[in-house]
Amino acid sequence: MTWREEYNAYILSEQWRRIRINVLARADGKCEACEIHRAYLEVHHLHYKTFKNESLTDLVACCPECHKLLDAKRESETFHRIEDARFHGWCNKVYGEDGDYFDEEEAHERYCAWLENRT
Ligand SMILES: [Zn+2]
Repeated sequence: MTWREEYNAYILSEQWRRIRINVLARADGKCEACEIHRAYLEVHHLHYKTFKNESLTDLVACCPECHKLLDAKRESETFHRIEDARFHGWCNKVYGEDGDYFDEEEAHERYCAWLENRT
């Protein structure tokens, strides 16, 4: 099953329906992002770390406009995490696995220079 298929199946599940009702009840008709009363609210995943096992704190009830912004924010946070992981992978290669004695700032400069030279 692809991630999309798994996601779509879950969104139709009884478990999700119940969580969603609880999040919407908490919001009580008010977007939890812009705090404006809305006739229609959607439920946004702040992250997917607890996907299919969400707590109410992992979710936000929001209006469709805020939902778009929140999705974009989550995407960019994921992007930064991937970038971070790449940088640390590079440090491991250059400084060795136990290279915790290097200067992180200097390492980052070298990493950026390396990225530029590569393209
Ligand atoms: Zn909103």
